[in-house]
Amino acid sequence: MYCKNCAKEIDDRAVICPHCGVSQVAAPQVVDNGGAGWGLLGFCIPLAGLILFLVWKDTKPRTSKAAGVGALIGVGIGVLFYILAFGLGILGAIGSAGY
Ligand SMILES: [Zn+2]
Repeated sequence: MYCKNCAKEIDDRAVICPHCGVSQVAAPQVVDNGGAGWGLLGFCIPLAGLILFLVWKDTKPRTSKAAGVGALIGVGIGVLFYILAFGLGILGAIGSAGY
């Protein structure tokens, strides 16, 4: 096989490239940057945010938190909007009832 870094031919079982010293083991690169994109996803699709929060809460605490908070805000605004719409509906009903 060839080194992932310097592309020189190395032993198939080599863990570290003897030429450049770069590890050849595919280390699982866990990206846990608490990206705002996941928060936005959670905000737009609260259910997805909740699932990501549960799936990642151990492996990617920051990203899961971003998704969870996004979902929470999404749900909160959704509920607020619902209450507002409900309130306006009542006001409309009262208005049309002649009060
Ligand atoms: Zn190398």
